[in-house]
Amino acid sequence: MTEPLIFVAGHRGMVGAAIVRRLRALGHDNIITRSRQELNLLDQQAVSRFFAEHRIEQVYVAAAKVGGIHANNTYPADFIYENLMVEANLVHAAHTHGVQKLLFLGSSCIYPRLAEQPMREDALLTGTLEPTNEPYAVAKIAGIKLCESYNRQHGRDYRSVMPTNLYGPGDNFHPENSHVIPALMRRFHEAKERGDAEVVVWGSGTPRREFLHVDDMAAASVHVMDLAPDVYQANTRPMCSHINVGCGADVTIRELAETVARVVGFEGQVVFDATKPDGAPRKLLDVSRLSAMGWNAGITLEQGLRDTYDWYRAQGAEVRS
Ligand code: GDP
Repeated sequence: MTEPLIFVAGHRGMVGAAIVRRLRALGHDNIITRSRQELNLLDQQAVSRFFAEHRIEQVYVAAAKVGGIHANNTYPADFIYENLMVEANLVHAAHTHGVQKLLFLGSSCIYPRLAEQPMREDALLTGTLEPTNEPYAVAKIAGIKLCESYNRQHGRDYRSVMPTNLYGPGDNFHPENSHVIPALMRRFHEAKERGDAEVVVWGSGTPRREFLHVDDMAAASVHVMDLAPDVYQANTRPMCSHINVGCGADVTIRELAETVARVVGFEGQVVFDATKPDGAPRKLLDVSRLSAMGWNAGITLEQGLRDTYDWYRAQGAEVRS
């Protein structure tokens, strides 16, 4: 009998790749991955066949269509359709093939736009969502409810983690479609190289965001997957089972821009383009649930940005396309 496998769906993405690194560092050599060419997660029958062909014991659902404020606003149909299909196909196929353990990765944008800060898990579905990424958020909320429903109806142990804004090696550095950290890192880097006097940052600079390095996210994900069921159940409820993952502190976009400029070594002016949207005014997670389960973030923003910038500089032109 072969050893049961850990399937990391989405291993080419920033988070999936970090989960694979983390699992390997912990000594797991029974990891299975599939590229998009090998397995199309939008294809229900292909996903079902894949589960039928392998003895899978755990699934990390790190596959998702993700992007920053501009991408979410421009491609809302892609964001809701692809995320709904991928999570429904994976959760249902895992269940029908007897997989007891699964971890679904969501996002802090599931919470209402004006949720009380820091946002607790039970703020879910208490108010209107931020319009710029509502389709994505609705798909992620459906993912949490899929997991809870299979647990309640079928006795599965499917858990969910909701990360705050993530960044790190493997991020998408596209100039328009990326999230704020890679966007600014690239813009400051290119401005430094050209000797520009100023760099434009979108919005007013006043929104507040919490950022978590992807290696911390991967460590938290494996921690939650491996928690004993009684510890998980004691800290969650069947219909509020998701767990926030963050570092517990936030910064303004202006402060972030200044920190990125320092890390990159850009010495010019930072100017704000108020014609670009701000998105939610503040997004800070309450991480007391996760803390009570024994995990806290370890990488500071400045350390994490330096690590990401080292990675960015070590890449060829392909991350800059
Ligand atoms: P959000 O947390 O879903 O809003 O994700 P983003 O990472 O896309 O944006 C975070 C904040 O950074 C928003 O207030 C943006 O307006 C602001 N921001 C400033 N400059 C940029 C930029 O160049 N790209 C992106 N994506 N956001 C930026």
